[in-house]
Amino acid sequence: MPSLLIDTTRQASFNQYLAGALWLLNVIALLLLLARMRTILDVWLAVTVFMSLPDFSLAFFYSGLRFSLGWYAARSYTLIGSCMLLVVLLVETAMLYARFASAIILQRRERANRLMSVDEATAAIAHEIRQPLAAITLNCEAMLRSLERAAHDPEELREGLTDTIDDGKRASDIVASVRALFKSTTHQRTMVDINRLVRQVLRMVENDLQVQGVSVSTEFQEDVPEILADPTQLQQVVLNLIKNAIEAMATSPGTERALRVVTTNNTTSTVSLIVQDCGPGITPKSENHIFHPFFTTKSSGMGLGLSISRRIIEDHGGDLRLAETTSTGCTFEIILPSVATR
Ligand code: ADP
Repeated sequence: MPSLLIDTTRQASFNQYLAGALWLLNVIALLLLLARMRTILDVWLAVTVFMSLPDFSLAFFYSGLRFSLGWYAARSYTLIGSCMLLVVLLVETAMLYARFASAIILQRRERANRLMSVDEATAAIAHEIRQPLAAITLNCEAMLRSLERAAHDPEELREGLTDTIDDGKRASDIVASVRALFKSTTHQRTMVDINRLVRQVLRMVENDLQVQGVSVSTEFQEDVPEILADPTQLQQVVLNLIKNAIEAMATSPGTERALRVVTTNNTTSTVSLIVQDCGPGITPKSENHIFHPFFTTKSSGMGLGLSISRRIIEDHGGDLRLAETTSTGCTFEIILPSVATR
C-alpha cells in the first residue's frame, strides 16, 4: 500500500493525487447524472456528488499539511455538508410519506363516497319502484280472480292488462330517472303543462284516494306557462307529495280528510304548485329533518321521498319547501322557473 503520511503532520503527495482523482471522478459522475436525470434517486445522487466537490477541491489544495487551517476547513466542510444533506434528505422523505399517506386517505374517502351513492341509489330505486310493482301485483291478482269466474268479462281483462303495461313502463321510467339523477347528467326534458301533469298524478292515486276517503279540491290557474322539465321525475315528486299527504291523513277522522292542490303563475316568472293536507302536521322537532335522506317517522317508510324530490326540483332550478305546518295539516310548495326565464 502506498504510504499516505510522511510524518505526523505532513501528508504524502499521493494524498493530493488521490483527492484530485476523486474530484475528477465526481465531476464525470455529476455530468453523467445531469445528462440522464430520470428518477428522484438521480437528483439526490447529483446533489450528494455536487456537495462533495468542494470537499475534494479543498483536500487537493490543502492536503500538504495536517492540522493546518485548510485541513480543518476541509474536515469541517465535510461534517457540516453531510449533516445538512442528511437532514434535508430526511425532511424530504418525511414529506414524501406524508403526501403519500394523504393521497391514500383521499382515495379511501372517495371510495367510501362512491359506495354511499350506490347505497342511496339502490335505496331510492327500491323506494320509488314499490308502488308500480304493488299495482302490477294487484292488477294480476284481480285478473286471475276474474279468469276463475265462469263468465269473465274480456273488457275487464283488457283494462287490467293495459294498466299492468302502464305500471311496468312507469317502473322502468323510474329506474331510468333515478339512475340519471345519481349520474347527475341532464335528463330528457320537454315542455310540461303542470296542470295536466297534476291531473295525471291524481288519476294514478284515484284508488288510494277512494280507499282512504280523501276528498280532493283543485285550483288550477288556467294560464300557467309551461315549464321545461323531465315529466317522469316531476311526476314522481308530485306523486310523492300527494302520497305523503294521503298517508298523513290516515289518522284524521274520515270527514276531515281533504287534499287541496293549487297551481299558480307567479309574477316572478315562476310557477308554483301547492299540496295541502288536513293531517296532523309536522312537529317542530321533525321539521328540520324531513328533507334529510333516510329520515322517516313511518314504520315502513324509507325517508327518501322528500330528499330525492328536493334534489329533482333543485336540479330543475326550482325549490321545494314546507310552506306551512300546523296541528291541522301542512302545505308543501314547489316553485319552478317558467320557460320564459330560461
Ligand atoms: P317517507 O314517506 O318514506 O317517510 P319522505 O322523505 O317522503 O319519506 O318523508 C319524510 C318524513 O316527512 C315522513 O316520514 C313524515 O314524518 C314527514 N312528512 C312528509 N310529508 C308529510 C305530511 N304531508 N304530513 C306530515 N308529515 C309528513
